[in-house]
Amino acid sequence: MTARILVVDDVPANVKLLEARLSAEYFDVVTAPNGTEALAISARGECDIVLLDVMMPDIDGFEVCRRLKSNPATHYIPVVMVTALDSPADRVRGLEAGADDFLTKPVSDVVLLARVRSLTRLKMMTDELRMRAITSLEIGMEAPERSAVADDGKGGRILLVDDRPSSYERLAPMLATEHHVDVEPDPSQALFHAAEGNYDLLIVSLSLDNFDGLRLCSQARSLERTRQVPILAISDADNNARLLRGLEIGVNDYLLRPVDKNELLARARTQIRKRRYTDHLRDNVQNSIEMAITDALTGLHNRRYMESHLATLAEQAAARGKPLALMILDIDYFKAINDTSGHDAGDDVLREFAVRIRKSIRGIDLACRFGGEEFVIVMPETDAHVAGMVAERLRRSIAGQKFAVSKGSKHIDVTISIGLSTMERKGEPVADLLKRADKALYRAKHAGRNRVESDAA
Ligand code: GH3
Ligand code: MG
Ligand code: MG
Repeated sequence: MTARILVVDDVPANVKLLEARLSAEYFDVVTAPNGTEALAISARGECDIVLLDVMMPDIDGFEVCRRLKSNPATHYIPVVMVTALDSPADRVRGLEAGADDFLTKPVSDVVLLARVRSLTRLKMMTDELRMRAITSLEIGMEAPERSAVADDGKGGRILLVDDRPSSYERLAPMLATEHHVDVEPDPSQALFHAAEGNYDLLIVSLSLDNFDGLRLCSQARSLERTRQVPILAISDADNNARLLRGLEIGVNDYLLRPVDKNELLARARTQIRKRRYTDHLRDNVQNSIEMAITDALTGLHNRRYMESHLATLAEQAAARGKPLALMILDIDYFKAINDTSGHDAGDDVLREFAVRIRKSIRGIDLACRFGGEEFVIVMPETDAHVAGMVAERLRRSIAGQKFAVSKGSKHIDVTISIGLSTMERKGEPVADLLKRADKALYRAKHAGRNRVESDAA
């Protein structure tokens, strides 16, 4: 895991110091002496994380951060403010500019490396998702970057795990000014509550009575339902070692007591925004996977999916000693339907045809649009006799009821021809199965259409 860190500082000695420490841990380091260069390097995608000095002569760190975070091309790059200013008000200013984290000068080695490592992990995961989501962007879905830049991070669902009434009675109302908050005072119930609640953020007190808050964080990280939910830990000021341990096991951010309201809200918004962004990316990946295997017009599987899946179905059937049947269905004189009623009417027929196919087959059958007006249905655990009956029922469901086209203004007769084949021996190539069904279809067409032919005939 080697990340490339951009160190931005107008004082050369500061740059050298951070560069030396990071290089010693095998991070790649690039440097910039001012904000303008930092923006240019980031825009060219040449860094994974930015360590940003606040006080610089040309553009100050807050402004550099704001520009990075408001540009869809750079907004996902984590920014750590390195600052001598350390009041809550300064941190809030940084968080409002979009900073992901803070390091106070003089920077401690341990803290520096813990923060950089934890942000690197997050960045790698986001990069992976972004890369996969790019396919879906190419086919015209909304860019998640655009909505992420516009998201104010408010209106989140937060679970606060805290067993001290004096603490949660203060924190919950603060959070409730911008979010929906549930309090879980019983740490032993927290994991269950978190898994059931569909939260955008978990806030965990690390000073629980008789309960290790870090253990809870680590369990939340390993549980499927809560793995992606960000965690903000709240710790007593003297607990540095535990906080570092927390970052290692996947705590996303922390706050020290006494908790400053504005800082709490700003950190919560930052985590919620990130969560929504990665969720959005993940949805896009899911959508693009579905699009890649689905025929857009009919919603059936496409040919690519069928071809990759058919081999698996055939192997399963062979391994279990079960039969497997396959049919190719082709609409009769479809060209004539297009020619007389128009291409849109032809599309209506294809859509309605898919609906009738779905009604006639079982959940385990695989139906796909093979191309044009040709469809394939694969039927596991089905012998030639049963397949013949299914095919005949399908043929009748098409020929027996006219198709409504052009918004129901016209009703036309449609018929189909079907060619059937069944797997004859273990290890028979699926291409042969398709070829034999195609030959049977050819015979059905020649025998006058609107009929079923089987390869065994
Ligand atoms: P046959 O009975 O021998 O199958 O004759 P046919 O006219 O159905 O077959 P042919 O292969 O000659 O013509 C198929 C037509 O299907 C030609 C093509 O323009 C049309 N077609 C293919 N895909 C689509 C589509 O997505 N929508 C529409 N409306 N027509 C399509
Ligand atoms: Mg046809
Ligand atoms: Mg055809």
